[in-house]
Amino acid sequence: MRYAIDPAPIPSLAIQGSNARFPVRRVYCIGRNYAAHTVEMGGDPDREAPFFFQKNPDNLDQSGEFPYPVKSSDVHHEMEMLVALKSGGTMIAVGEALSHVYGYAVALDMTRRDLQGEAKATRRPWEIGKAFERSAPCGPLIPASEIGHPQAGAVTLAVNGAARQTGDLDQMIWKVPEMIAYLSEYFELAAGDVILSGTPSGVAAVTRGDTLHGRIEGVGTLDVTVI
Ligand code: MN
Repeated sequence: MRYAIDPAPIPSLAIQGSNARFPVRRVYCIGRNYAAHTVEMGGDPDREAPFFFQKNPDNLDQSGEFPYPVKSSDVHHEMEMLVALKSGGTMIAVGEALSHVYGYAVALDMTRRDLQGEAKATRRPWEIGKAFERSAPCGPLIPASEIGHPQAGAVTLAVNGAARQTGDLDQMIWKVPEMIAYLSEYFELAAGDVILSGTPSGVAAVTRGDTLHGRIEGVGTLDVTVI
């Protein structure tokens, strides 16, 4: 293959305990997947059809640093579990969905809340608030072959040592197998796709110098400094 210009590097994630990396194809993110967060964002916590937006694969970042982005003065943390797929398809049954999962990671869906709010108010897409550079800090990918498929466990985020977000994986409105099945009705999922599975309540603004410590019981931890 000869390209007319140099191709961009393939975005990839480090895997705990392996020298191999996980190549990322697409990033799907679910909105409002915890009732308490849905309420804090002004939504209705009754179970409606899920909705998704996307980030760019190269928005994922395992450097441990989050550069405060341009064009915003209200950047929020959203603590989430990342789900990485080793295979995919269409019309995947809920009961078979977990067989497509390679592993999990602790991640943040960093959000330019002011720009997202303007997008909502003007019925425009969310990318300007969500899909900016290094907007998805995450920890190492942990293979499901090591930790299984966590379906319950505390999800916590502390900022500068003070608790900010607290929830539990079992509070997800749409569980991981349901998200995979639903997405596969609308898109062809494939190896390398990742899903950010939604945030518990307690989202709030960060400022430069903040240190974020996230933990998902049964998965691991993530430490990020806002620079
Ligand atoms: Mn989110």
